[in-house]
Amino acid sequence: MPESSQARRIKIFDTTLRDGEQSPGCSMNLQEKMEVAQALVDLGVDIIEAGFPIASPGDFEAVREIANTIRGNSVICGLARCSDADIDRAWEALKKAPRSRIHVFLATSAIHREFKLKMTREEIVERAVKGVRRAVGYCDDVEFSPEDAARTERDFLCQVVEAAIEAGATTVNIPDTVGYATPQEYGATIALLKNRVPNIDKAVISTHCHNDLGLAVANSLAAVENGAGQIECTINGIGERAGNCSLEEVVMAMRTRADQYQCTTGIHTPRLVPTSRLVSSITGVHVQRNKAIVGRNAFAHEAGIHQDGMLKERRTYEIMQPEDVGFQATDLVLGKHSGRAALSDRAKALGYTLTGEQLHVVFDEFKKLADKKKDIYDGDIIALIEQQMHGAPAEVEWKLVAFEVSSGSGHKPRAKLTLRHGDKEFTEEVADGDGPIDAAFLATEKITGIKLKCIDYQVKSATLGHDALGEVNLSVAHGNQTFRGRGVSTDTVEATVQAILTAANRIALTGGKRSEVSGQ
Ligand SMILES: [Zn+2]
Repeated sequence: MPESSQARRIKIFDTTLRDGEQSPGCSMNLQEKMEVAQALVDLGVDIIEAGFPIASPGDFEAVREIANTIRGNSVICGLARCSDADIDRAWEALKKAPRSRIHVFLATSAIHREFKLKMTREEIVERAVKGVRRAVGYCDDVEFSPEDAARTERDFLCQVVEAAIEAGATTVNIPDTVGYATPQEYGATIALLKNRVPNIDKAVISTHCHNDLGLAVANSLAAVENGAGQIECTINGIGERAGNCSLEEVVMAMRTRADQYQCTTGIHTPRLVPTSRLVSSITGVHVQRNKAIVGRNAFAHEAGIHQDGMLKERRTYEIMQPEDVGFQATDLVLGKHSGRAALSDRAKALGYTLTGEQLHVVFDEFKKLADKKKDIYDGDIIALIEQQMHGAPAEVEWKLVAFEVSSGSGHKPRAKLTLRHGDKEFTEEVADGDGPIDAAFLATEKITGIKLKCIDYQVKSATLGHDALGEVNLSVAHGNQTFRGRGVSTDTVEATVQAILTAANRIALTGGKRSEVSGQ
């Protein structure tokens, strides 16, 4: 990468655990959040927005645990509305972090002022100043966000930003909360703030773009070109609605086109793919094959003429190298005779650090798989590791003992399940439903007494070939909450039964309640 002396260092502010986590289907439990936070530290993000502490006891607990235990160079940040209770609660969660930031936000656009807040412009400025001052009383790193800034009248935006900096905000974030901005317009807003706000040099300008029109990355880059020094983004671009600016895309755009942007970041790019996989694996939300940077096909060359060019000189069709973002170019195949050390080496090369106990379990599963399937590819190994790390909860109420499922033309689908609860076993046979999966759901409901309404069901193969491992990810609604389940097996029906049971166990163990409040 050309490291010119003029290259500006852009801060990467990751909000996977806040904006990402508050989006449908992406909720995480405490242990999962801790794992993601550690991965973000390893990736080299400058700031981790760990949550919105007042939103729920679960949010508070997660921010506090991350602040108390995650160590490294990342600043830990908590979100708060401009109210005393929110800011106090945020600080309570953050105070033990070696470096922390309070992020306060207040909507400023006319539509939010009139319909949501019912406040005048003067009242907004007053409340923003009061909020920033209270946060500054706790912590010298304070970020202020005028929510829906992209739709706020420019004069008023300048006025609020100036007042927030005067009150002590060290970062001012300009959110395009609804994903409405265009690159040229958003860039011009940043330039305007740079030119018109007299104290703007005392704060870093930040971007927070949503992807409703597919422009989040383009808008963030336009902001950087006009003087923004921080980008708010998420792994895989997860977030409210169509998501946030994708971290991997914006970072690789600045790195690959350093000639254009004259910027650097502190991101350790070979960690991009492993971190993307971790977030997919935990949330069950997979990235599409053709996703830039981290999609399965991002570096696949199919057309003959391209392949020919690639063999002669990679740069004919490749602007980045797969290794730069953490794809391991490998043809290595493991099999029945591969030992524990070989498996451990592959896991490491694929970006996973396994504890002794995890390696032990994964190796057992690997041996079982090697009995069913001759060649074991990276995709199979990834599926086994992820199932071990994020498959079923560590404690379970209901355990699968045996299952039989049948379907065919001319007779009703049938599922027979035996589950163990404590030291008792329960068997139910159901000959009903519109297919074998439906019958398996019905049998699980009958035994556990837990209502399971399937709202999403996905099967994907871990590798090529009809003997590949099948990975099932499903979501069920229970009350007003959503629970995920995941299963992996060469037998897709077995993987489905495992996934149903995982979701049922998560309900039985009653996961954290989802909060009703959400942030910009
Ligand atoms: Zn947002």
